Amino acid sequence: MAPKRPYVAVVGGGIGGLAVAIGLRKQGIEAVVHEQARELDHQGAGIAIGANGHRALRHLGVADRLAGAAVEPVRADFRHWRTGRSTVTHALAGGYADRFGAPFWTVERAAVQQALLAELGPGAVRLGARCTEVTQTGAGAVIRFADGAETEADAVIGADGIHSAVRHSVFGPDEAVFSGTSGYRALVPMDRLGHIPELAERVLWLWLGPGRHFIAYPVADGAALNFLAVVPDAQWTVESWSTEGESAELLAAFEGWHPFVTEILAACERPGRWALYDREPRRVWSTDRVTLLGDAAHAMLPHHGQGANQSLEDAVVLAHLLGSAGADGVAQALRSYERARRPRTRLLQAGSRKNAACFQLPDGPEARARDERLTRLPDDLAWIHGHDALGALREQTAPV
Ligand code: FAD
Repeated sequence: MAPKRPYVAVVGGGIGGLAVAIGLRKQGIEAVVHEQARELDHQGAGIAIGANGHRALRHLGVADRLAGAAVEPVRADFRHWRTGRSTVTHALAGGYADRFGAPFWTVERAAVQQALLAELGPGAVRLGARCTEVTQTGAGAVIRFADGAETEADAVIGADGIHSAVRHSVFGPDEAVFSGTSGYRALVPMDRLGHIPELAERVLWLWLGPGRHFIAYPVADGAALNFLAVVPDAQWTVESWSTEGESAELLAAFEGWHPFVTEILAACERPGRWALYDREPRRVWSTDRVTLLGDAAHAMLPHHGQGANQSLEDAVVLAHLLGSAGADGVAQALRSYERARRPRTRLLQAGSRKNAACFQLPDGPEARARDERLTRLPDDLAWIHGHDALGALREQTAPV
């Protein structure tokens, strides 16, 4: 008789939670996503999907669904904050995909979520379900919700973001680490930016300056420009996709910057503002029946553009391992998942912290040395973008 398949409950319907549910269902495992929001309102501006995240989306059957909404920028272009001089460029369209086996995409987070939902199909997500507690029982775990409901599953996956209730409930309280910086983000319709001729090209722009940096790229098949402007502010500690900042404040923070940057900022009426937090790497993610995924496990600053990509990598690895385990093999599968994913995400957490400082150096010898290092970026980032999460898992678990 075939071993009993585990029933899996996922807490959180963000990119990671939806992706792992797809991966599980494709292997015939019943998985239900419990999401606190009453509707998936698709906030969050744009994200970059590297070849590593793309490979995971392809494995889940979602990459083709997204292709129409995504942009493949022609190059990454680093610019001097005041003069606008191009300091380093790297080809993205073409060369990047040849090297790393999949393209580099810029896309609205909403489009990723919609594509994942479409692939998941109806009936797999329970909305308005805010988890308050998870308790491990002998052969499973029980989730309790704010409305008094309960559900029991063979395995529970906490994919509920940086403030994870699952993590808190199972592992106790811990503190998010505030970076002392804020990210202003917005999508600006491209037709408001017609006076900036350089935007006719589809480029990933990275403007680096003293104490600030500004990243912009087209999304929605080129219909809008997404920007992220990172500024220091030790006082602002609100972390939400939907908090609005003041345009005037943002413009003042970039006073003296090249008109390319200030004109984009000026064209945006209400930027979202997001205090940037991460967490110290965790030593343990899993118990026998409960594990963490994505930001819940390894929240990182956005300076490698890898948070969502890592959630996708986690999702395909965990789904594969649970898919190969019967209900009796859940504990072993969760341990293998954690072993496979912890070292890599730990490195990315540390690297993302380091990048912030390096992006924001004052003009001078250190900034020049950084620009010199940036010429080697494709080699330096090969371990991130060239990674095949499932391939690496197979290598790790192959008999020697
Ligand atoms: P989340 O997206 O946070 O989803 C968690 C879900 O759980 C949400 O739907 C939430 O409503 C739900 N939830 C929370 N609590 C509960 C509860 N108690 N019960 C039930 N449901 C709950 N990543 C990239 O890869 N590329 C980028 O270019 C990039 N840019 C970024 C720029 C900025 C400024 C920031 C802040 C982040 C960026 N990221 C980027 C990171 C990326 O957005 C996150 O890492 C990613 O969204 C994490 O996905 P997740 O599914 O783990 O968590």
